Amino acid sequence: MYYDLSKARILVQGIVQGVGFRPTVYRIANSLNLNGYVRNLGNIVEIIVEGNEEIINDFIENLKLNKPPISKISALKVEWLLSYEIEFNDFKILESSSKFSGSSVIPPDLATCDNCLEELLSPSDRRYEYSFTACTDCGPRFTVIKSVPYDRERTSMEEFSLCPECLAEYQNPEDRRYHAEATCCPVCGPSLFLYRDKVLNLEYPLREAVQLLDDGHILAVKGIGGTHLVASVTSDDTLLKLRKKLGRSNQPFACMSPNVETIKTFADVSNVEEKILKSRNRPIVVLNKNNNYFLSSYVSPELHNLGVMLPYSGLHHLIFKYSTEPAYIMTSANMPGEPMLTENKEIIKNLEGVADYFLLHNRRIINRCDDSVVRFRGDDMTFIRRSRGYVPEPYDFSRLNADLKVLALGPEIDVTFSLLNEGKCYVSQHIGDTTKYETFRYLQKSIEYLMDITKTDSVDAVVSDLHPLFFTTKLAHELSEMFDCEMIKVQHHHAHAASLAVDNEVEEMICITADGVGYGEDGTVWGGEILHYQGAEYERVGSLLSQKMVGGDLTTRYPIRMVMSILYDHYEYDELLDLMKRNYLSYFKYGLQEVDLVAKQLLNDFNIAQTSSTGRVLDAISAVLQICGERTYEGECAMKLESAAYSGYEKVNIPVKIKKQNGLDVLDTSKILLSVLNEKLAGERVNDIALAGQKAVSVGLAELAVKAADKVGVNVIGGSGGVFYNEAISTSVKDTVESAGYNFIQHKNSCAGDGSVSMGQAAVAALHFS
Ligand SMILES: [Zn+2]
Ligand SMILES: [Zn+2]
Ligand SMILES: [Zn+2]
Repeated sequence: MYYDLSKARILVQGIVQGVGFRPTVYRIANSLNLNGYVRNLGNIVEIIVEGNEEIINDFIENLKLNKPPISKISALKVEWLLSYEIEFNDFKILESSSKFSGSSVIPPDLATCDNCLEELLSPSDRRYEYSFTACTDCGPRFTVIKSVPYDRERTSMEEFSLCPECLAEYQNPEDRRYHAEATCCPVCGPSLFLYRDKVLNLEYPLREAVQLLDDGHILAVKGIGGTHLVASVTSDDTLLKLRKKLGRSNQPFACMSPNVETIKTFADVSNVEEKILKSRNRPIVVLNKNNNYFLSSYVSPELHNLGVMLPYSGLHHLIFKYSTEPAYIMTSANMPGEPMLTENKEIIKNLEGVADYFLLHNRRIINRCDDSVVRFRGDDMTFIRRSRGYVPEPYDFSRLNADLKVLALGPEIDVTFSLLNEGKCYVSQHIGDTTKYETFRYLQKSIEYLMDITKTDSVDAVVSDLHPLFFTTKLAHELSEMFDCEMIKVQHHHAHAASLAVDNEVEEMICITADGVGYGEDGTVWGGEILHYQGAEYERVGSLLSQKMVGGDLTTRYPIRMVMSILYDHYEYDELLDLMKRNYLSYFKYGLQEVDLVAKQLLNDFNIAQTSSTGRVLDAISAVLQICGERTYEGECAMKLESAAYSGYEKVNIPVKIKKQNGLDVLDTSKILLSVLNEKLAGERVNDIALAGQKAVSVGLAELAVKAADKVGVNVIGGSGGVFYNEAISTSVKDTVESAGYNFIQHKNSCAGDGSVSMGQAAVAALHFS
């Protein structure tokens, strides 16, 4: 009998598989002379250690401190076992077993680590200039994994048998590449090739590709989780050519720059922005252009900001090694509204008329994953799109409901879906516009995939939007029949509020939800709502004034129609026609005829919907100020309004008035638009009026919220919806709310826009059944 012999079973949960966790355990155990083993048991790592109790405690502390950089421990449980004699004489890593149930958390794709980068750039290294260099600390995960458990045979790397040297690294627990499933080298791994009509026989396809870019060509470059269209950022001609070919006249393009120092030559970068740019997640960060901005104005036309990211794969680092350009356009290669292309044949077929050359490789992309996009408002970050580098890491919903399984399908256009299982909410990568057939298919496939890798056979409830005609609502009906489970519908803005509440761990608040469109309980189009959020329940306690909208979607595209509807009740008929024809004729697609037609429809109350959307009001202000007359991409008019206001001075005052409409407190947006028009007619500077107009809307929303909070007796006010991406609006709401003595909360780890709607839907369902 050994009196000082102890044995412990340690169970670790979190992101602990496929991230070098077991070798780290192995190294620490060996360094402390502890015996036993470590293995994967379904979704947990099991460690058995035998030795002195104090040393075992040291081991646990050591493990917490020195865990691998990508890993995350969400729970660590220690069971002390009875031990009378020595059972082990060494420490081993045992093979993982697929017999155990439970979902393991797959880590996201992460940027090339410093060690790999050094190898990539060192001429004596066997991975010198090898684009696919990766190790346990970096490289693709989510985008190469076919199923779980995460082992090479279940990834797209299975086609590439490891060469003896790679195999030796892979099998050595002391090596950085021990069980690095995506590891490879020039001898055994995937390779690049350049294509134009046929595969071009070149020794250095990447160097040739860079030369072609610098000669003004447009390239399609297949990367890790998708394909980019890549082009010069300084050549107007190239950018105009690309815009024409894609049919994207104005939509901003994201770009990639080699390092932060270079970015600072054309954009402002704060400390917090620099930190996230350099993070392993490497999202696109929306940055303000600085005074020295010298890239082409066609990168992000008429906007004061642009999206920039740093290289995140070996391929990107090598492109910049051979280039002297400050940046390249790197925009997702897809046809409008359709998913990003991932298969070589499809890439070539679809982009033949767009790209001059194709830089491709022979590794399959299992999961498409668009670049993530973030934006800061002061020091506060929010996601515009949460995708590559973050997905599929789940949110912790265990405090809402630890048992329920829910599938939530999101809205219709900017779709993600969410899967809740075992208290974890997996929000999918960006899916997109489900009215497009290809994207809808992508949604279906991605649901199957996520259910598979999380080992979710069925669900207890399927959630959809309230809108009866969304494709996602129809799919929810089908799925609830298939799983023979309940289907629940969650109002769009209720879902927004719920996602914000979960993100900030609050249970009750007054929430301002300001966005473009959401189907309301009363069948009208909501989008400027003050909700009293109480978890599974909510009450609408205020909104923007309900306005007429002539001809639905046409108003969204041509906001001058909204202007005309709003002014209609405040102008003489002929006077209104005269104003429109004199100042705004070019904003009507069909000219004079259309002005008369819209006026007649207003007169006869024909083809008119009602809306309280904030987006439509901001668009109307943008149009009336002659900033933007046609929306060619989502949010365009409001974004251009924000950019105009960015160089405005606080000189104009637009009054804010709250009144009653059908018993509800509403912000009088007609009065705001009239004041904006009058200031314009009085000759005030457009930028100053833009600033004042935006401010009136934001102060009005904040005052409505404060009034409601006061009445209901809660001290937290939140802001959700795409309008909160606007820095000036978000800041002004925050200031107004805080100076009234309330706490203001915003999205931190989730999207303010519709990317979080599915997560909110899942949260409402979780609370509904708890
Ligand atoms: Zn690495
Ligand atoms: Zn190799
Ligand atoms: Zn929304």
